[in-house]
Amino acid sequence: MHSRRSSRVVNIGNVAIGGQNPIAIQSMCTTKTHNIKATVKQILALEKAGCEIVRVTVPFPKDAEALAAIKEQIHIPLVADIHFDYRMAIAAMKNGADKIRINPGNIGKKEWVVEVIEAAKQYKKAIRIGVNAGSLEKDLWAKYGRPSPEALVESAVRWTEFFEKEKFHNLVIALKSSNVPEMIESYERMATKCDYPLHLGVTEAGTFVTGSVKSAVGIGSLLVNGIGDTIRVSLSEDPLEELKVAKEILKSLHLYSKERTVIACPTCGRVEVNLIKLAHQVEEKTAYLKKPIKIAVMGCVVNGPGESREADYGIAAGRGCGILYKNGQVVKTVEEKYLLKELLAMIAVDHPDQKTL
Ligand code: SF4
Repeated sequence: MHSRRSSRVVNIGNVAIGGQNPIAIQSMCTTKTHNIKATVKQILALEKAGCEIVRVTVPFPKDAEALAAIKEQIHIPLVADIHFDYRMAIAAMKNGADKIRINPGNIGKKEWVVEVIEAAKQYKKAIRIGVNAGSLEKDLWAKYGRPSPEALVESAVRWTEFFEKEKFHNLVIALKSSNVPEMIESYERMATKCDYPLHLGVTEAGTFVTGSVKSAVGIGSLLVNGIGDTIRVSLSEDPLEELKVAKEILKSLHLYSKERTVIACPTCGRVEVNLIKLAHQVEEKTAYLKKPIKIAVMGCVVNGPGESREADYGIAAGRGCGILYKNGQVVKTVEEKYLLKELLAMIAVDHPDQKTL
């Protein structure tokens, strides 16, 4: 792991991003924002699943107006996604959005962008500049021939300079792309051009497996090089699935400490218990642990003891039984049918502060 890029700190409501603050996980509602009840319900579910910043779409005045009531009922920062209409950006901030996400190239006139900046100053809000291929300026098309990483970065730099000229620095930058190598290159280039926090994501990533892999490769490659302050995994799935993947990406790089990690072997011909079932059960039944506890579920004594010794808790299965480990020490040998129960009991005793589901 490379050390973290040193970015400036930007406050999004009650969450500080950038600097050495934890990487924040974002997601986006799939509801109609003006349907306040449905939107609040989805945001509360997302909060519970680990979402730290949530975005909603604001295409119409009724959506902007709904933000005030939504904001009252949720606990995480609310971001308004704005396309084309600068008046929605201003209305969203007035109604309580903690940040707006705009693509300034889509807003139309520069005077309108200035009006948005002035409103953000007045209401003390942050702005995410999200550039993408669709809004690349004509002169950059002519210069680069296509929305290449160089073209997107030049566009983003141009806009950050525009905001800076208006004396606005409460910025977050995103250069999402569905092309993973180009997404990585765009962020790497941008990271050297500014010190604003970077919001990472692969757009139009796809359904669960495809989208998760593309997101993990794109987001993970950047994070491992110290680039990135917030992340969004975009999947053509329920946004709750996005959060699971986002958390696993961060956990795999030791960048997430709010949840347990379960490691499990892939099984092979040596396994003598129903290990796949057991691994799933352990994952499900320990999901309540909101601490960075490592639990190993291993199929045999070949790799089991080694991995279990590295973990806080572990199982190394044998023929119809398993050895339970705690902090690298053997605790006892248990029959297969009691393995899950005994493991869970051992963990529960050690962590009485954690509420079981
Ligand atoms: S831990 Fe044992 S059962 Fe699991 S994959 Fe390795 S050798 Fe096979």
